[in-house]
Amino acid sequence: MKFRTYPIVVILLSFILVLISCNGKETIAPKEAFRGVVLYPSDMRSIGADRLIDILKKADINLIGIHSNTITEDLDSLKIYLESAEGRLLTDLCKENKIDVEYECHVLQEILPRSLFDAYPEYFRLDSNGVRTNDLNMCFSSEQAWLVIEKNITELVKWIKPTTNRYFFWIDDSYDGFCLCDKCKSYSPSDQALIYENMMLEIIRKVNPEATLAHLAYASTLEAPKTVKPQEGIFLEFAPIGRNYAEPLSSDQYNALKENLGIFPKETTHILEYWLDVSMFSNWKRETWNKVPWNADYCKRDVHLYQDLGIDSFTTFATWMLHQRYFDLHGQDEAVEVLKEYGSILKGK
Ligand SMILES: [Zn+2]
Repeated sequence: MKFRTYPIVVILLSFILVLISCNGKETIAPKEAFRGVVLYPSDMRSIGADRLIDILKKADINLIGIHSNTITEDLDSLKIYLESAEGRLLTDLCKENKIDVEYECHVLQEILPRSLFDAYPEYFRLDSNGVRTNDLNMCFSSEQAWLVIEKNITELVKWIKPTTNRYFFWIDDSYDGFCLCDKCKSYSPSDQALIYENMMLEIIRKVNPEATLAHLAYASTLEAPKTVKPQEGIFLEFAPIGRNYAEPLSSDQYNALKENLGIFPKETTHILEYWLDVSMFSNWKRETWNKVPWNADYCKRDVHLYQDLGIDSFTTFATWMLHQRYFDLHGQDEAVEVLKEYGSILKGK
């Protein structure tokens, strides 16, 4: 009996070992790090999808984050772009060239329309004067407001489909837009944002079970949440706006990042930087349209700091730089060279 079963046991054991080793190979294969740029639809339109993809390939960029905000380019204009021949070409070329596409959007003004204020002021925030106002964000504790948001988000995710399954549906772009009603006031801005993101992810996952969603640490949400815990699938997006790039990350920003990394997993943390953000370096004034104050050493210094913390997902606003007007004013070749340097820093070359 023993002799007859021995070869079978050996074969079975070998088979199990092969399975384990194959499985092991799958799990330890390093994932491709993200090297991204964030652009407006108007940037991409001005250059054209063909030329844009050619430029991104030269710089080893593997991710485009398409940006919308309610003020200058809203969700409607993003949808119009994506459905246009140019937008479809961009999607096809990205797929062909293995460039991921994500959508980094301030959406809250549009998924909770301000026009609801007259009939339903309780959907909106109580400001520091104790007045209900629809200027920014919402009352994050309003269950009825969430019913409106759920309906609108369910529509939105029918056409906003990030190839990475990472969603970025940010609250309003503000420093002081949080709710001080009795239910919300004990929560910090970061906690209120995380309440919103936890609810949002639950809604998106009803449509896309693979979805993950960014907690944007930025401006008044830069500090780590204190009382609310992230649901599984919420990842940290750290966007230290207002930096002086001649200096490393300030100690406040660095400490905020470290605290956030104690709450959110570092493996999924994503950095949104401004190294190439011509719109920001022009103070968002189109009549200015400055040259980007690029310094490869500054960027390298910052990237190493983030990588030393175990972060490998990066993108930078490059709005108004990858734009025909920038090429006309400051030269396409130079812009492409800057982008190539950025790409090679992220590649560790
Ligand atoms: Zn509230």
